Formats: sequence, C-alpha cells, structure tokens
Amino acid sequence: ATPTALLVGTGRGAQLGILIKGPEVLESTRRVDTVVLDKTGTVTTGRMTLQEVYAAEGADERDVLRLAGALEHASEHPIARAVAAGAEKRLGAALPPVEGFENAPGRGVRGRVGGQDVEVGRLTSRPLPQALAEAKEAAEAEGRTAVVVTLNGVALGVLTVADAIKETSAEAVRRLRALGLTPVLLTGDNERVARSVAAAVGIDEVIAEVLPEDKVDAVRRLQSEGRTVAMVGDGVNDAAALAAADLGLAMGTGTDAAIEAGDLTLVRGDLRVAADAIRLSRRTLATIK
Ligand code: ADP
Ligand code: MG
Repeated sequence: ATPTALLVGTGRGAQLGILIKGPEVLESTRRVDTVVLDKTGTVTTGRMTLQEVYAAEGADERDVLRLAGALEHASEHPIARAVAAGAEKRLGAALPPVEGFENAPGRGVRGRVGGQDVEVGRLTSRPLPQALAEAKEAAEAEGRTAVVVTLNGVALGVLTVADAIKETSAEAVRRLRALGLTPVLLTGDNERVARSVAAAVGIDEVIAEVLPEDKVDAVRRLQSEGRTVAMVGDGVNDAAALAAADLGLAMGTGTDAAIEAGDLTLVRGDLRVAADAIRLSRRTLATIK
C-alpha cells in the first residue's frame, strides 16, 4: 500500500485488516462480477513440502534428489525451497555445487552439476517414460505439483511437492458466491493440479498453465468478454494482473510488488476478507452516494 493508505469504512475496515489506496478505488467494486484468485500463496499457503521421489528405470532415487536438490538450492521459488530442503534432509548430506545456473520464471531451472546438464521444471516438451508419466499424473490429480528432472536432456525422475489449501479458502469462496460473484482460479501450475484445488474450495472456472507474463492477458480476456474483474494475488508474477484488474487485491503476506500493484491490501492474507472488502466498500459507497 502507499504510505497515505486509508482504511475502508473507517473503524470496520481497520478491524478487518483492509488497507485501501484511495476512495476512488471504491467506485470499481460496485460493478465487479468476477473474482480471479491466484492459486499458490493466495488459495494455498504456498509453503510446499517434498513428497514423492520417482526415478526412471535404471536410475537411482538418491541421484534424482541430489541433482534436483543441488539445482533448486539456487532458486527462491516455493517448489525449489521444498525440493532443496527435502533433498538435504533425506540424503543427510550437503548438496553438490552448481555451475551456470539459469532460472526460467514459470518454467523451471537448469544448470550443470559435476559437469552434467540438469533441468528441473515443467519440461512439457520432453518425452517421459510411461511409468513416470503415470506417477506424475496420479500426483497431479490429487493436487500435488510434479516436476520433471532431466540429466543431459533425458528424463531422470519426477518429484512431487504438496501445498496445503488454506483453511479459510473454501469459506472465502462461499462468501464471494453469496455476493453474486463468480470465482476463477488462475495459476501457472498444471491443469490437473488446478482442477483438484478448485474442486476442493468450490471453484468451477479454472485458467491453468499460464506463464507469469501471460497472467495479465488472462485478466484482459475476461474483461474483453464484458466482465468486471477483481484479482487477488500475492506474487511478483501477479503484479501486472493486479494492476490491469478493475480491482486489485493484494495479500499483505505477499510480495512488495503485488502490494504496490494492488488497490487494496488484505493485511493478514486472509482470503475471506476479500469478500468482506467488496461487501464493505459497496456498502460504504451506498452511504456516500
Ligand atoms: P504459480 O502460478 O502457481 O505461482 P509459477 O508460475 O511460479 O506458478 O510456476 C509454474 C510452474 O513452473 C510450476 O508449477 C512448475 O511446474 C514450474 N516451475 C517454476 N519454477 C520452478 C522451479 N524453481 N523448479 C521447478 N519447477 C518450477
Ligand atoms: Mg501466488
């Protein structure tokens, strides 16, 4: 929020933990009919933990862990933190050094470990052995994110990470619906994972496998269909979409980039407050008019 942030509806807004950039923001809340929710860190906690480790035939699970862990050690992404911490813990050893590390936002990471090329990420264009493809799909259907590990361009294994859905998310979606708003889940993650999370919290409409730079286009497409869009997000890659939305709501627990781009900040990062913010500002507006 800006240093001059005001509180919505004075006392009530403060109680709820809503910061608003200026009174002009309220005007757009009246027409909002669609609420786009970022998945990771908004509907889910974004604190991921390593779950399953699958190795390709002839490969060793410990090598999958060691190579992926080494590479992800250099990344700040929630998936990377989960993989690096999980690998270190399970191997009980320090991870080897990485050379030529590269990060491709929304795709994954690559680099050299012990002189060999290693990649971890979506790598959707790589052929996967059937056993790995099946393990990946099964995890995704249950809402876990799966990443592929390759060694010198050949699939070496699959790792899965779990991200808990926030306890408040289903209630938040119910409150949004009660206001007549249509919730939409937006994510860079896999379609199956997105569907699973959406079903768990009561969302029907899903836009998945969206690259970070394309999130803003997803919002604009909904607007071009005549919808008035509120967007709730927390990440650096949500900032442009928050700015493009008719109403941008940033999670106070999220990145500075998101908070700066949003019109409102949900201070405690509680998604239920998104519905409260829209309801309250509609009512405040009715009082002002
Ligand atoms: P979200 O929209 O859920 O915040 P991102 O856009 O950050 O997700 O990432 C989308 C996808 O790109 C992830 O689900 C993962 O498959 C892949 N990815 C991104 N960064 C990494 C990484 N450091 N390691 C592995 N995979 C990654
Ligand atoms: Mg996020």
